[in-house]
Amino acid sequence: MVNYSHSKLETFENCRLRYKYRYIDKIIPEIPKSIEAHLGTMVHEALEWLYKKVMSKQIPSITDLIDFYSEKWCENFAKDFLIVRKDMKAEDYFNRGVEFLVNYYLKHQPFTDNTIATEEKIEMNLDEAGEKKLIGYIDRLVHNIEKNEIEIHDYKTSASMQSKEKMENSRQLALYSLAMKQIFGKEKKISMVWHFLAHDMKFSISRTNEQLESLRKEVIELINHIEQTKDFPANKSRLCDWCEYRNICEAWK
Ligand code: SF4
Repeated sequence: MVNYSHSKLETFENCRLRYKYRYIDKIIPEIPKSIEAHLGTMVHEALEWLYKKVMSKQIPSITDLIDFYSEKWCENFAKDFLIVRKDMKAEDYFNRGVEFLVNYYLKHQPFTDNTIATEEKIEMNLDEAGEKKLIGYIDRLVHNIEKNEIEIHDYKTSASMQSKEKMENSRQLALYSLAMKQIFGKEKKISMVWHFLAHDMKFSISRTNEQLESLRKEVIELINHIEQTKDFPANKSRLCDWCEYRNICEAWK
């Protein structure tokens, strides 16, 4: 049995060659991580730390949060991080993270929305035989007592804002909704909540059981297709600028 994640499925859809390098050949990339990925990881870690404290009934100050973020940023920073945008320096990305966290903190304090877990690991059987398994991590889970629903919260640190249509069709959080239904029961209402930190905006939607069921079937079909695929051509696109295999990619020779 092979495990799948949303990012593994997405890699296959975006570029099969990258999928092959990463998941079949398991090539360890020589190109360092991008600064955007570092920013995303550090902001996620800072918010995870914040909510872990909140769950243990201690609310850190905004200064504590920024101190934690700064410490983590420096601890995990590497001078050779990939910076694609020539008009930006590493410190600009660091400052962007500070801005995200300050805005988020001011908007959500005193954090009383009843968070029940952070970085929650999801493992879900997509089919009854248990041959197709999906794994993932939910940034934050909330039990909204007032609405009697479970909320799946996801933080986005990219500069671009997704359209409403893209969110409505988003697969990642919908798959996590399916996983939550397996735990809490089909009748439990599950909401998906995106936090677009670069825009200081929050967006929330939910999907019906019928929509989730058709998504489950689509994903099974996609996995069947992946497992039958023999040909892994390159797909050149703007995503190549951030690809960790560009230095060995046949399309760029
Ligand atoms: S550089 Fe572009 S075409 Fe080559 S593997 Fe990466 S994403 Fe695919």
